[in-house]
Amino acid sequence: MAQQKFKKWTACLRLFSSNIFIQRTFRVVEGGRRCLQTSSGAPPTSRPPRSVNESTTKPFSDFLTDRFHREHDYLRISVTERCNLRCLYCMPEEGIELSPPPKLLTTPEILYLSSLFVSQGVKKIRLTGGEPTVRKDIVSLMQGIGQLRKNGLRELCLTTNGISLHRKLDDMVQAGLTGVNLSLDTLDPFQFQIMTRRSGFEAVMKSIDRILEMNRLGAGIKLKINCVVMRGLNDHEIIPFVEMSRELPIEIRFIEYMPFDGNKWNREKMFSYQDMLTVIKREYPGLVKTADHENDTSKTYKIPGFEGRIGFITSMTHNFCGTCNRLRITSDGNLKVCLFGNSEVSLRDIIRKENHGLPIDNEALQNLGFLESTTRLDNNGEPVHEREREILNIIGMAVKRKKAKHAGMDELKNMKNRPMILIGG
Ligand code: SAM
Ligand code: SF4
Repeated sequence: MAQQKFKKWTACLRLFSSNIFIQRTFRVVEGGRRCLQTSSGAPPTSRPPRSVNESTTKPFSDFLTDRFHREHDYLRISVTERCNLRCLYCMPEEGIELSPPPKLLTTPEILYLSSLFVSQGVKKIRLTGGEPTVRKDIVSLMQGIGQLRKNGLRELCLTTNGISLHRKLDDMVQAGLTGVNLSLDTLDPFQFQIMTRRSGFEAVMKSIDRILEMNRLGAGIKLKINCVVMRGLNDHEIIPFVEMSRELPIEIRFIEYMPFDGNKWNREKMFSYQDMLTVIKREYPGLVKTADHENDTSKTYKIPGFEGRIGFITSMTHNFCGTCNRLRITSDGNLKVCLFGNSEVSLRDIIRKENHGLPIDNEALQNLGFLESTTRLDNNGEPVHEREREILNIIGMAVKRKKAKHAGMDELKNMKNRPMILIGG
């Protein structure tokens, strides 16, 4: 049965197979950082001093280090609130109220904040949403962020539903894209319509196919498939998804269903990590745990002889807060230090102060010398310019307020938090 489903899927892939003549090599370097985790998932309270940036021999930015010594070198930026799908677990049935455009970050503002965070040691930026590929100028935005590689950025990644990715992928790779997390919860086109309330399965397959093709030519894009498992909806597809990793160099990541405002979460619908392991081990008793990278959110496994890997994101049953190195910026410019914390601080309002509260366009960016000032640092790695000092102080205070770990499942379901589509997953 599982084999049959997999054959159907690979046939589907072949159908959309295309020749891509882009050859490119990209060396992906993982940011090596130290962070310990206690058995409770909370970070330890005492630890060796902040890590040192090897190229500058300066300690990691104090602004981005919290009270538990977690160094935040990974920034996730939501670049739109819009989406071309309506996934059951993400988008509330009644829809969402979109922010008026002037409240959203402009491209120059996203570039400025990216540059500021990179100047403080951020090594990895992920663009998300909403659906990031629906942002009209997504490619030029990525080209701008890609320029920050010369300032220390090592990874530029995208989380996407894959619907229109295949059309923009070549340009994105040229811009510096190093990794794609592609969301796909079913391998059945009919079930796809049920889970996303839209059609588009074939387009997603085309995007996967194109990434694999580009990788065969040397593009080196790290590809992960994100699959949210909901009991009674797609839990019967766990094995077909695992089968995808038999011949393809893909990491399939099963995600526990999480509660957000308006997504009708309940415990019974959640298919836990343990449940998933049981299902997989029944079919593949040889499943073995592999070593995880330090800041991985995912627990990874391998089936001997399989090309790819299996991962689990266990936010509900086993938090990974102890090694959390992530900060988030929402499309409307709020810094969020924890996905499950509802405290947010507006960076947009601070950066617009000098522009009379108005959105910063390219002209204002140039006139106010925004980009240059992010790179002017003193001997301690702190910004010389007053504007950056003020913003970083505010970021630093928010980071210092980050809790040791997020609330448990039963508290989370009653907590107010924006829908995932507005946070940026
Ligand atoms: N539109 C893009 C996509 O779907 O990949 C990026 C944004 S989406 C909010 C980011 C990720 O969050 C996706 O992998 C999605 O599956 C995941 N997600 C959304 N709501 C979730 C929920 N309630 N529980 C678990 N994962 C969720
Ligand atoms: Fe859109 Fe992604 Fe949310 Fe699905 S998970 S509705 S694709 S933002």
